[in-house]
Amino acid sequence: MLSESTKKLLAEIPKAENHVHLEGAITPELILKFAERNGVEVPFGNEEEAKEYFRENTKSLDKFINVFNVINAVLCTELDFYELVMEFARAAKEDNIIYREAMFNYAVHEKKGLSLTTVMKALTDARIDAMDEYGVDIVYIAELDRAKDSAWTYEYILKINDYKESGPVPAVGWALGLEGAEHKNFKAKEFEEAFELARELGFKTTAHCGEAQGPESVWEVLEYMKVDRIDHGVRASEDDELIDTLARKRILLAICPSSNVMINLYPNLAHHPIKMLKDRGVQVSISTDDPAVIMDSLTSEYVKTAEALELNEEEQIELVRNGFKYSFSGQKYLGLLDEWLIRRLA
Ligand SMILES: [Zn+2]
Repeated sequence: MLSESTKKLLAEIPKAENHVHLEGAITPELILKFAERNGVEVPFGNEEEAKEYFRENTKSLDKFINVFNVINAVLCTELDFYELVMEFARAAKEDNIIYREAMFNYAVHEKKGLSLTTVMKALTDARIDAMDEYGVDIVYIAELDRAKDSAWTYEYILKINDYKESGPVPAVGWALGLEGAEHKNFKAKEFEEAFELARELGFKTTAHCGEAQGPESVWEVLEYMKVDRIDHGVRASEDDELIDTLARKRILLAICPSSNVMINLYPNLAHHPIKMLKDRGVQVSISTDDPAVIMDSLTSEYVKTAEALELNEEEQIELVRNGFKYSFSGQKYLGLLDEWLIRRLA
């Protein structure tokens, strides 16, 4: 068990979060509010039922994707997105997250007829207000849905480029296809050109891999997408050469331990490879992936992981530091983190 002072450290230390899906952060309260406001049916009637639904329907990646689609259906208007981001920022402040990189999946909202302009107006306005009201710096990662083809993705990157210059979207990230079971068909190679375009335009890049698929998916992403970092990537732990390659290239794995356990990748946190990867020289950070669905905070994620894998304070702080150091635009907060650590010792 961690000491009370270590738990206090993890709660109070200024944190960054690298891997969190905006749509996976909608609280049951907001889902019910939006569902009622927009006349959308959801398979639960109150917050307790929602939590039970999440618990029961997230035991594999396929089931998890269905849950995501239920959540996505309630997001229908500019106001919904605005309120979602403001709640996302409020929760971040409560958790002492000062810099948060949020992925959003426009492909699923486009299907509902929402324009990119509407979604981006809400996200951009809320980002400014979140900084004013909560002092939380939110940047967005435009998710490239794996179920979409490379032509759609290429066009989308061109469109989202308009929002790069002014700051809100510094990066694009390839993630799970939410439009069916196509995620089983891993096809990084098809997106080679789209990622080349993203790099040419100056986007930072990331991709989900090494989760449901094994180490070969990480190799493919490195070869064809040449990403700056990787989301999950935990199954790189099954391949010695890959571990060494990731360590040598200093490619961050933005790891979400509870999310991996939730979909049964590992039986529990004590079996999670994050410590082994770190000990082998791979840069790793901790995130929640989908805080509403795993029903926990980033602080709690740190506490549980540190407890299960017996990470000492120095290791915990290293993980926190990595969240800023390997982020897309949060390096400016490293000084603030250092000052905080010095004050703590004084
Ligand atoms: Zn994710």
